[in-house]
Amino acid sequence: MTVKKHPCFDKSSIGQCGRVHLPVAPKCNIKCNYCNRKYDCVNESRPGVTSSVLKPHQALEYLHKVMAAAPNTTVVGIAGPGDPMANPVETLETMRLAKEHYPDLLFCLSSNGMNMPPYLDRLKELGVTHATITMNAVDSDIGEKIYSWARDGKVIYRKGNAAKVLIERQLESIKGLVERGIIVKVNTIVVPGVNDHHVEEVAKVAGELGATLQNCIPLYPTADTPFAAVPEPTHAMIKELRKVAGVHVTQMTHCKRCRADAVGLLEADRSGEFAETLSQCSRLLPTSENESRPYVAVATREGLLVNMHLGETRTFQIWGPSPSGSGFCKIMDRAAPASGGGAKRWAALADVLKDCRAVLVAAMGDTPRLLLEENGLPAHAVSGFITDNLDALYRTGDLSAFSARKARACGGGCSGGGEGCG
Ligand code: SF4
Ligand code: SF4
Repeated sequence: MTVKKHPCFDKSSIGQCGRVHLPVAPKCNIKCNYCNRKYDCVNESRPGVTSSVLKPHQALEYLHKVMAAAPNTTVVGIAGPGDPMANPVETLETMRLAKEHYPDLLFCLSSNGMNMPPYLDRLKELGVTHATITMNAVDSDIGEKIYSWARDGKVIYRKGNAAKVLIERQLESIKGLVERGIIVKVNTIVVPGVNDHHVEEVAKVAGELGATLQNCIPLYPTADTPFAAVPEPTHAMIKELRKVAGVHVTQMTHCKRCRADAVGLLEADRSGEFAETLSQCSRLLPTSENESRPYVAVATREGLLVNMHLGETRTFQIWGPSPSGSGFCKIMDRAAPASGGGAKRWAALADVLKDCRAVLVAAMGDTPRLLLEENGLPAHAVSGFITDNLDALYRTGDLSAFSARKARACGGGCSGGGEGCG
């Protein structure tokens, strides 16, 4: 296993080696003045929401699908959409699962460093090979202009104190990673008029601590942030800064500011292509939960096709694996709760179907779908034969081949109240 296979750390491999980011880390523990939480972490990404956030078991299923469809993937990373170490349980469990199933991949983390020191040994044990720490300043007087606050457990630091604590943790993280043989890149967001004159000092400290690369990323001014009106650095400014900083640490020049759910080669991102797969995986239940939910509820008129709208179904058919061990059969009929009642109706339906791992309907509104999923019942708008859908659902969890192309407009032919099957 060599650095050569990581496309971010070795530019010569960008045409052969792909990466996948697993978006399992929604929370963050600091507030950068260039960040709007509606967007991906700009430490490692361009603005734009990740299409879904995954739980660790879902991330593993997603990784299986990515590895099958993109076998040139050599790096699995966690880069948000918040900060991986602000979500240590999810991050470490995802890394453990990924390592268990794909021991030959490279493992990469991108963090602000605030909560990394307590986990350095564990990261090494889990096989993390590469890490990125975003360090925008090594002087708290400059840092306080960049960070509004930082949270350490239940303690919240603000302004200068936040910058001081954060910088200490970043230095400790870089040192600890390097000592453990993990290859480190330092990202520095260049904010004109705030830290551009300080980038060389950051590079010097990073180089002294043993970082392999520095990635000077031009600020991407984001709406509704304190830095929204700061002009983006010019190419000339970034080029000059890289020249000066490059005296102290090698500079990365090919960063793509990837999304937290990036997939594929740096030069040919496939995250759009995998968005539906990601979304499906975000609805998968854990295997143990599947065991307590052996059935699937189906909205059907005659018991052959999935062909009824969620809101118009008064009785669901409950299907499950046939006792003969081959195929599927109807187990029973089950009445749906009466219509009306808004959100309560969908919570009640999820409760009525609590032994079902999913409900299959021909169409539904977004609101009931989200309410059912919030209540633990994934809902799929699909078409085709019930048994074909069940075969795909039980085998792979992937119903994309049956996805109903166009959900019927809410209220059109159904008895709902026009507010998403209410
Ligand atoms: Fe936003 Fe990332 Fe900064 Fe957290 S570390 S505030 S997610 S840019
Ligand atoms: Fe590599 Fe930059 Fe993309 Fe991170 S954001 S995966 S460093 S190209």
